[in-house]
Amino acid sequence: MGAGPAGMATALSIAQTEHDVIMLERYPAARPAGNILNLWPPPIKALRLMGVDTVDLGAPCQSEFRSASGRVRAVVHLPQDVIDQYGGGFIGMLRPQLYSRMLASIPEGILRTNTQVTSFDQDESGVRLDLADGSTLEADLLVGADGIDSLVRRTLWGDAPKREHNLHIIGGFTFDDTLDVPTGRCVVSHTRTIQGSWTSIRHEGRAGFQWWVLGAFDSSKEFAGDLQATATKMAEGFASPLPQLVAATDPGSLQRWPIRDRPPLEKWSKGRATLVGDAAHPTSPYAAYGAGMSIEDGFFLGRRVAGVDISDAGALTAALEKYEAPRRAHTAFQVDIAYKLGKIFHHIPAPVRPIRDLFFDHSPFLQKMIGDGTPGEILKQLDEIDDAEREFQSRRGASTSA
Ligand SMILES: Cc1cc2nc3c(=O)[nH]c(=O)nc-3n(C[C@H](O)[C@H](O)[C@H](O)COP(=O)(O)OP(=O)(O)OC[C@H]3O[C@@H](n4cnc5c(N)ncnc54)[C@H](O)[C@@H]3O)c2cc1C
Repeated sequence: MGAGPAGMATALSIAQTEHDVIMLERYPAARPAGNILNLWPPPIKALRLMGVDTVDLGAPCQSEFRSASGRVRAVVHLPQDVIDQYGGGFIGMLRPQLYSRMLASIPEGILRTNTQVTSFDQDESGVRLDLADGSTLEADLLVGADGIDSLVRRTLWGDAPKREHNLHIIGGFTFDDTLDVPTGRCVVSHTRTIQGSWTSIRHEGRAGFQWWVLGAFDSSKEFAGDLQATATKMAEGFASPLPQLVAATDPGSLQRWPIRDRPPLEKWSKGRATLVGDAAHPTSPYAAYGAGMSIEDGFFLGRRVAGVDISDAGALTAALEKYEAPRRAHTAFQVDIAYKLGKIFHHIPAPVRPIRDLFFDHSPFLQKMIGDGTPGEILKQLDEIDDAEREFQSRRGASTSA
């Protein structure tokens, strides 16, 4: 239920198994709610295995953390073979292209738009969904891919307020080719209070840049400012090319989001229902990994239910546990680190900020935590994808030769 990255990946992965799958989307189309996006190699690998065309999906970038003046604080060095296989470490793109590539690989008849789920209940034998048009649907398994305000999560695990980070982010993109900006980089930089970042993108064969500025904003207040003027002010004090990229961006290519998440759940699945993507682990964009983890969730879930008799409650429970246990640990780590980075860079008291920045400029802390820590997480995910795929293919082989 839900046709965002998590729902589409789940549909793609399950469509490769013996099970039937339908994807219910409340809106008239599966369409992205935002513009800017970067993906790490694991989701790119999962997309490929699920049959999605990833050729020229985005611009390969090397990621760096810098001070506002341009001093490099950390570089994410991925092994050369990973860079060779995935076209670079961090792939910069716009969301509509990811959606259109994923949708193009989903078999006909799976996506049902204008279909809002209003409630569901379940017992040992199945799940019953109530739809907004008054009809009902029955299934062996319900997958909640319904985002941060997930009805499925709420129904399974109760309601709780979102965790407000008291931060907001404004992002935009430009294809202005008169700018003299180096390509192949994702640069994440910080002043004492603002994160200002930019990255190369490719979109429908065109090269461009996306950027974002992120800073404190009281979540109890309505944002009433002008997006371009606010972004321009936030980008002041950053090294070139950030201010130039903001200035070159068409107002129609700008968006703003308040930043919020939810603390990790101890369990995702209950009975015949489970969660994927933001429904399971909404994450601050500080991780830049929410959509990536959503795609991985869908991939793993499909692989775990392949070859399982999901009408059998015990077999389904075992498959769902196998799916969620490693995912819970990985995603909780990302949610936590993204939350803490937001605190460290934007909410520590003013007198401590110069000491923090001196520390980040002259100690290996950020290099160790982000520069060296990120490749470790990425390689681990790539290995887990390989293992799941090997198991899936050998089961498939066994069932076709039987
Ligand atoms: C500014 C910003 C920048 C980001 N940058 C990155 C990045 O660089 N890299 C990255 O990996 N991630 C990034 N993310 C995170 C990423 O956008 C999310 O994690 C991702 O979109 C989650 O996908 P999802 O499919 O779980 O949920 P969603 O994209 O929210 O999709 C949920 C879908 O469910 C549907 N739905 C909801 N309720 C119902 C219902 N009752 N019935 C039927 N349908 C329903 C919705 O209409 C929607 O289509 C960023 C997020 C933000 C805000």
